[in-house]
Amino acid sequence: MENQESRPAHGLVKRNVLLNPGPATTTDTVKYAQVVPDICPREKEFAGMMKQLRTDLLKVAHAPEEKYTSVLFCGSGTINIDVCLNSLLPAGKKVLVVNNGAYSTRAVEICQYYGLPHIDLKSSVYERPNLADVKKTLDENPDIYIVYTTHHETGTGILNPIREIGALAHEHGAIFVTDTTSSLGMIPFDMEKDNVDFCMASAQKGLMAMTGLSFIIGNTEEIRKSKDYPKRSYYCNLYMQYDFFERTGEMHFTPPVQTIYATIQALKEYFAEGEEAKFARHRRVFDAIHRGIKRLGLKDVIRHEWQSGLVVSVLYPDSPNWDFEKVHDYCYERGFTIYPGKISTTNTFRLCALGAIDEQDIDDFFVVLEEALRTFGIETCKP
Ligand SMILES: *Cc1c(COP(=O)(O)O)cnc(C)c1O
Repeated sequence: MENQESRPAHGLVKRNVLLNPGPATTTDTVKYAQVVPDICPREKEFAGMMKQLRTDLLKVAHAPEEKYTSVLFCGSGTINIDVCLNSLLPAGKKVLVVNNGAYSTRAVEICQYYGLPHIDLKSSVYERPNLADVKKTLDENPDIYIVYTTHHETGTGILNPIREIGALAHEHGAIFVTDTTSSLGMIPFDMEKDNVDFCMASAQKGLMAMTGLSFIIGNTEEIRKSKDYPKRSYYCNLYMQYDFFERTGEMHFTPPVQTIYATIQALKEYFAEGEEAKFARHRRVFDAIHRGIKRLGLKDVIRHEWQSGLVVSVLYPDSPNWDFEKVHDYCYERGFTIYPGKISTTNTFRLCALGAIDEQDIDDFFVVLEEALRTFGIETCKP
């Protein structure tokens, strides 16, 4: 546990470079924003902060206030998937999950747990979904009301064609819900242009804040309509939470107070850095990751033009001495966190470009990774 315990003498919090897919490395100003006087979240002052936060989240998604709203939940990102699926399906209708990875599989499992009628349109995790198959399924199933997919499949690093899938959903009279947890605030995104009715994320990913706050941005009219849909959850009902916010300005149940302070600070920093500049920084980090793996003779598994620019799935080197845990621990002790893969059929680990990091951090990381490979005698296929 050396990594967590060592503190620099001048009292600042030690900076770790997280190359896992969230929570991400945060700035000190975001960390310290959590240290505030105790406050009861039912105070008007706190409700006012949440109102501004909800408005700012709409701006991140370029969602006009006349048509969209944002609803906050206390929980990790998966709560959003749960809420959208269980709340937005009218009686007698079906969900279509366009599934090419672990996170869309999670949505399928949620449908199973709630007993929601659904179609699991499963395709290879190494490829983007086939739009002709999506169209065919919609043509054959006029009772589909929700088309669902993951924007950036964090398990592989594939970026899915949401604009095209959303257009197909709308042509067939369905709404389009997409999990943007690992893309919102990193890849420029526009609710209307991207044909999205509902998207979602949590504070510790693209916004570079802390865990515990998740949010859904969606079409207000659809939320109002869902008032009369079957109620399948008490704590995780979208209309109930929306309605409570609209009437009282508060979350129905206790909000994650300190995380909300951190998120407000993170949003200030988000707007100060700027959408395009932040996107360019993530790109620099991504390019630095690719330079590094190439230099060390490592290989990625997803076709380059399909990669989101935020997650690189790297094949385990073909060496008898390779041991993910050992390499992880070596890097971890030196302030760098690498992450296991999420592809069941291939042995991979992941290097991600989320968080308050830049290309220098990646160059520093590859020096450490190279040392680790040398220390453990791990051969790679260097040219
Ligand atoms: C991180 C993530 C989630 C949420 O996962 P939690 O473990 O609940 O935080 C959901 N979808 C995607 C695509 C993600 O990357």
